[in-house]
Amino acid sequence: MSFALTVGSSTTTEEVFWSATFFLLGLVVGSFLNVCICRLPLNKSIVSPPSSCPHCGKFIRWYDNIPLISYLMLGGKCRACGSPISPIYPIVEALTGFIFGLFFYRFAVKAGQPPSVYFAYIALSAALIVSSFVDLEFYVVPNEITHWGTALGPLYTLLFPSLHPSADPLRGLSLIGNDRLDAVLASLTGILAGGGIVLLTALLGGLVFRKEVMGMGDVKLMAMVGGVVGWKLSIIIYFLAPFFALVGAIPLLLSGKGRRLPYAPFLSVATLVALPLQTSLIKFLDSRLFILSEVVKALF
Ligand SMILES: [Zn+2]
Repeated sequence: MSFALTVGSSTTTEEVFWSATFFLLGLVVGSFLNVCICRLPLNKSIVSPPSSCPHCGKFIRWYDNIPLISYLMLGGKCRACGSPISPIYPIVEALTGFIFGLFFYRFAVKAGQPPSVYFAYIALSAALIVSSFVDLEFYVVPNEITHWGTALGPLYTLLFPSLHPSADPLRGLSLIGNDRLDAVLASLTGILAGGGIVLLTALLGGLVFRKEVMGMGDVKLMAMVGGVVGWKLSIIIYFLAPFFALVGAIPLLLSGKGRRLPYAPFLSVATLVALPLQTSLIKFLDSRLFILSEVVKALF
């Protein structure tokens, strides 16, 4: 089964309609992610009670809780007390909507990937958005997200091996000869590679700088990412993240948040950028690995 609606290069009305529908779905999911970002670090329930203004405590009515629209209609202020509403809310909603729509267009429409691949990618994106904004605010990556996310990767792959297809040398492994087991192995290898490379950096950094350069939260976050994207893309993401960190450090330093740089947002941005570009990025890594293996062969 595939989402691919048409075969051809031009974009049809139907493709635009469904991508826009998933954009709207993303806005609604983004609204729920805001609740997670506010409540997970405080160990509060994400289901009840309904949202209320953090200043006056008044419950927010449904018509004041419409993603993006309500923020604009209210001019960014609480209807009851007039206190400013954090711009983080509409930013998270717009970002989630944008990713849901763009990924649907990129993976389901243009690449003709099965629904299971699309849903794994947007679930991972949602987990990364929550982790990043919690890390920015509280300097901690929520275990509720990374523990579950890491455990679900291989389980989801067991159900839907198309996430790591063994026939695709870019994304899969073919070691056992059974599609399903090979796919689970690819997910587990991704967890080890993603988590392992960050753990190694954290240990080495601790030895060299005698302070924490990366925390266990970052290790778990990359383990979760690895379970979905596999070992090759995990390594690429690890090397891409510092470039985003260099750019992101400037506004964080200026805003006075730079005393300690949260790293989860940069690993997340690198993941969200690398996912749509994975084919070219993995081909690039493969060609480098090939050259390396030829050099090793020539030497020994
Ligand atoms: Zn209020």
